[in-house]
Amino acid sequence: MSNYRCNCGGLILPNFEAYQVGDEVNFMIQKRKSIGNGKISVNQTAHTGKITQIDGDDITVKAHVRTYELSRFEITPKDAPGPIEYFRIGQCRCELDQEQKPCAE
Ligand SMILES: [Zn+2]
Repeated sequence: MSNYRCNCGGLILPNFEAYQVGDEVNFMIQKRKSIGNGKISVNQTAHTGKITQIDGDDITVKAHVRTYELSRFEITPKDAPGPIEYFRIGQCRCELDQEQKPCAE
C-alpha cells in the first residue's frame, strides 16, 4: 500500500488502464435503505473480487456470492488502497498542481 502513498499525504491513483481479466480488485458497494420519515440510510461496504470480463470501461467482477458490473474507475487493484481510503484520505494532487503551474519561462 505504501507505493500508493505520496509525500504530500495523498493517495496516488492506480493505473486504471492496466486491469486484466483475473486481476483481484477492491470495490465498494452502496446500499440504500429507507428508515422512515423520508430518511434514507446509506451503507458502504468494501469488497474484493476477481475480474472476469472487461468491456471498455465496464468491468465485471466476481465476488464470493455475486457478480458485479462496475466501472473501471470504481475499482482499485488489490494491493492498492480501497475506494473508501481514497475517499477518506484523499487523492494525491501533485500532478494536478503541476499542470496548473504556468509553463512559460
Ligand atoms: Zn502527492
